[in-house]
Amino acid sequence: MALIILKLGGSSITKKADNKFEVDYDILNRSAQEIKNALDQNPGLKIILVCGVGPFGHTNVTNYNLNGKIETLKQEEGVEKTKKDCAYVGNETVKALKGVGIRAKLILGTDICIQNARKVVSFDLNEYKKCLEEKIIPVTTGTMVPDQSFKWSVMSGDQVIAQIAKKFSPEKVLMGTDVDGIFTADPKIDAGAKLIELITKENIQDVLTKCGESKSVDVTGGMKGKLEKLASTLNGIPAEIFSLFVEGNLENALLGKEIKSTKIKL
Ligand code: ADP
Repeated sequence: MALIILKLGGSSITKKADNKFEVDYDILNRSAQEIKNALDQNPGLKIILVCGVGPFGHTNVTNYNLNGKIETLKQEEGVEKTKKDCAYVGNETVKALKGVGIRAKLILGTDICIQNARKVVSFDLNEYKKCLEEKIIPVTTGTMVPDQSFKWSVMSGDQVIAQIAKKFSPEKVLMGTDVDGIFTADPKIDAGAKLIELITKENIQDVLTKCGESKSVDVTGGMKGKLEKLASTLNGIPAEIFSLFVEGNLENALLGKEIKSTKIKL
């Protein structure tokens, strides 16, 4: 099965850099159109979509102090707001896909994942299987999920990818973000940063020491957190990180064409 796990990063489909609770509809709608174009050219393609939520997750988690145990009424309110806000991003994504004629369905992380001290202990994949059989693109965002120790905890989009990749053996993992890939330093801070085109077992440790966290509010570790999570879960599955701000990148990446990016082969 030609399955691709596609992540639309919060830095591209939301106004993460401006810390605004807003969806970036230019990027989201164009991404939906590019997915449609790729599916039209390769109807056998199966996609599981994972969305970052930018401020809808990270800023709420910071404002309401949701990183540890959930004990106060204010934190409970924060959990509810975060779940609602993350579901909003997921729903807008489903709407964007449906708008270009793609069948899509939101699968809420809160309904299928249980964690213990922020580590996944169970993740129900049945809904994903059903969607793939019915040619529906499942969409899941990072959100708050039930936690056996903390009551609720953050489950990032990158954790969703890890779970799905482990069980479905996708052909590849594509991650769209707001920069061309992984650089020798944060390209938003260091103008001399150079794109690293290929990450393998040989250079990953070196890359991790150079990689910074997100410049925006990010409670899941930004680019460094992303690479660490990928490194521990890819297990031979190729991954590619690229910019969703460059028109055509997503369509070409889905079709396996060469684009400016960082490829990961571990
Ligand atoms: P997303 O929300 O799309 O998943 P993140 O905000 O978590 O993405 O990570 C992307 C950000 O990571 C970039 O906007 C960039 O500023 C920052 N970053 C830090 N270090 C690096 C690096 N070495 N290479 C690329 N990006 C980096």
